[in-house]
Amino acid sequence: MAFGNYKEVMALKAKDNAITGVAQDGGVVTALLCYALDQGVIDGAIVAGKSDTPWLPKPVVATTKEEIIAAAGTKYTISPNMAAIKTAVREYGLDKVALVGTPCQIYAARKMQLYPFGARHVGDKIALTIGIFCTENFSYAGLKTIIEDHCKVPVESVKKMEIGKGKFSVKAAKDVAIPIKETHKYEQDGDHVCTDLTAEFADIATGSIGTPDGWSTTFTRTTKGSDLMKKAIAAGVFETKQMSEFAAPMGLAMLEKLENGKKDKAKKHAAERQALGLYVTPGILY
Ligand SMILES: Cc1cc2nc3c(=O)[nH]c(=O)nc-3n(C[C@H](O)[C@H](O)[C@H](O)COP(=O)(O)OP(=O)(O)OC[C@H]3O[C@@H](n4cnc5c(N)ncnc54)[C@H](O)[C@@H]3O)c2cc1C
Ligand code: SF4
Repeated sequence: MAFGNYKEVMALKAKDNAITGVAQDGGVVTALLCYALDQGVIDGAIVAGKSDTPWLPKPVVATTKEEIIAAAGTKYTISPNMAAIKTAVREYGLDKVALVGTPCQIYAARKMQLYPFGARHVGDKIALTIGIFCTENFSYAGLKTIIEDHCKVPVESVKKMEIGKGKFSVKAAKDVAIPIKETHKYEQDGDHVCTDLTAEFADIATGSIGTPDGWSTTFTRTTKGSDLMKKAIAAGVFETKQMSEFAAPMGLAMLEKLENGKKDKAKKHAAERQALGLYVTPGILY
């Protein structure tokens, strides 16, 4: 089924300007984490925080709204958020941890919950998973090359970066957009066998494809995710719109096209790898 299992899908935008001012899209991730923390649904969240190197994220265990907000915005490189789960549970002593991650990271969290090898009493402390849509990711060296050699701006001058409408764009001293095809060679190789664009295993999954700038296409997938989202909307955390309000080149038809494209591409790469005698994950996700 396109988009995986879900209960509701809608367009959302956080109402809090302090959040939308720093968030990547509609601020769904940051606003929902802040609400969940306020309500005691979680006692902390693993997010991609800042490090000393510009745009190189560092997994952070955030236990305050300020820390959650400080980690808003997309960093287009690997932030191994799952690596902070044991820290959150065993060092911070958290019982109700939220995990923010790309679809593969949400998949890892579900595997940890079902098969907790080397991680007993850790996965059961994951109280909420928020998945962010993901088409591809880059190594840090690759991202830096895209920004410095292709966009021709110093990485430390970048205020925001974005992928959408066939372009990779940066807001820096000057705003630059380059065709996305220039970035393909810097993609992580593992992404080419990844079949999940919309974080199919998350409690809540959100991304920009399908909605106008400043809004987020958001799926609630589990009962827990749906209940929390309904409460947040009732509490006035978000402005909401129906996805049917958006026609091509936005809306669910566009998202479905891109999702099917990602799955088809992954199948093709998996077949090529198999033909070379390489191991390929059994086809349950295809
Ligand atoms: C590598 C990558 C590729 C993406 N590709 C797409 C795409 O093709 N289509 C699409 O619609 N959306 C994509 N997204 C998601 C999109 O950029 C936004 O993250 C999403 O829409 C959430 O926006 P928001 O305003 O709700 O998030 P915010 O409120 O700004 O919060 C973003 C959250 O994501 C966390 N985060 C940031 N970078 C990373 C990272 N590298 N790894 C893990 N967590 C991170 C932050 O810590 C923060 O908690 C991608 C994100 C990443 C990281
Ligand atoms: S493309 Fe897939 S494997 Fe690569 S970062 Fe995104 S979710 Fe993970």
